[in-house]
Amino acid sequence: MTDYIRKRMFLELQQKNAFDDARDAAYAYADAALERNVFPTPQAIADLAHFDEPLPDRPGDAQDILRQLDRYGSPATVDQIGGRYFGLVNGGVIPATLAVRWLTDFWDQNTPLYLASPVASRLEEVTEGWLRQLLGLPESSVAGFVSGSSLSIFCGLAAARQRNFARLGWDINRSGFIDAPRLRVVASQQAHGTVSKAIALLGFGIDNVEWIAADGQGRIETDAVPPLDASTILVLQAGNVNSGAFDDFESLGRRARAADAWVHVDGAFGLWAAAAAELRHLTNGIELADSWSFDGHKTLNTPYDSGVIMCRDRDALVNALHAAGAYITYSEQRDGMLHTPEMSRRSRIFELWAALKYLGKSGIDDLVYGLHLRARQFAGELEHEGFEILNDVVFNQVLVACDSDAETEQTIGLIQQSGECWVGGTAWRQRKVIRVSVCSWATTAADVSRSVRAFVEARSVARSN
Ligand SMILES: *Cc1c(COP(=O)(O)O)cnc(C)c1O
Repeated sequence: MTDYIRKRMFLELQQKNAFDDARDAAYAYADAALERNVFPTPQAIADLAHFDEPLPDRPGDAQDILRQLDRYGSPATVDQIGGRYFGLVNGGVIPATLAVRWLTDFWDQNTPLYLASPVASRLEEVTEGWLRQLLGLPESSVAGFVSGSSLSIFCGLAAARQRNFARLGWDINRSGFIDAPRLRVVASQQAHGTVSKAIALLGFGIDNVEWIAADGQGRIETDAVPPLDASTILVLQAGNVNSGAFDDFESLGRRARAADAWVHVDGAFGLWAAAAAELRHLTNGIELADSWSFDGHKTLNTPYDSGVIMCRDRDALVNALHAAGAYITYSEQRDGMLHTPEMSRRSRIFELWAALKYLGKSGIDDLVYGLHLRARQFAGELEHEGFEILNDVVFNQVLVACDSDAETEQTIGLIQQSGECWVGGTAWRQRKVIRVSVCSWATTAADVSRSVRAFVEARSVARSN
């Protein structure tokens, strides 16, 4: 590196002009977030052309770069920190966790090992204990902190694969699938797409899964689950991504324990029901499972990205994910990379820890139950306006239909264009439906009513077309 560019970087760290600019731009963005268009305007999308430029030949200016990003980038964001984004299952963000992120960004910690970041190691341990307690998981459970449920599901099924093969006398890491005994994977036809992805990545083959039908709410048909045995991995769901429905963990968990089968629970957003007194019954029996995957960035409203794998059997998880190298020094302390597929990782634990500490047990209960109440309000007001609600609103998801698929489809498009709120579409029992996911702390009762008005308006335009 030439002295010239190094000097400039030291200057930037000393003077902090770019950081001041970033702060001002971020504050302006936050101040506008409650009122701006939820989806970018056509002009904002067109202005993205300003980024179509050749890779610069020489170093640029930090403040110029920020200015460009704020001017053309900020307007082309989807407003996920306001209260009227109901697409995917996207949480908002707790301000305290953003502040923690700003500080810890300066720390730039890499967190594979205790020796790489003692503070991250300690907070992973603390957070692991808090999560066990909050969600009522077994004392032996350990946590791995990853980017989201896509990866935490993968970790849970990798641990299951490791343990079930080991019981059959097979070391899957060394011997692979050639000549391996056969493991069974049993999952619901309503399992999330990332479950299928993990199954594919782990070499089981999607077509080899025993796919079980779901009932009208999207719960696995408990009675249709075949006899389980010690070679079986059963994948259950806490929170169907469309309907929000929960599988019957109690009876299937008992059956699995009696058969020594492994149960993984995909609880991406729904596992948090266990932390809310009024909703905890939905998760009865989750403690009978062997591994649980869930997100911080959905229901808990941490910044992206934040996913957690928890596993009853530490050895199964560590043996599945373990890596070695002459320069890797494991310690007596917690070494995070033993619980994750990655080695280098950003220090997302600070935000997750801060979210739990900021809210506390009562705040988490309030957040989770509040999402449910807003979803119920949504369903009630939409029904009153003549929309059809297709699911029992047990958690935060609402499935909505107009009189015909065509009307529903047009209504979705018009709502999205309105900028008033944002909802996506999905298919539910052979029908086109609007999918509402209430997932942000920032959504107020007034936001729900305002969004319902946008639904009514859009449907009336669709009807007049
Ligand atoms: C969102 C979701 C996933 C995937 O989680 P990511 O954090 O997006 O990787 C898996 N399962 C369910 C039920 C989900 O809602």
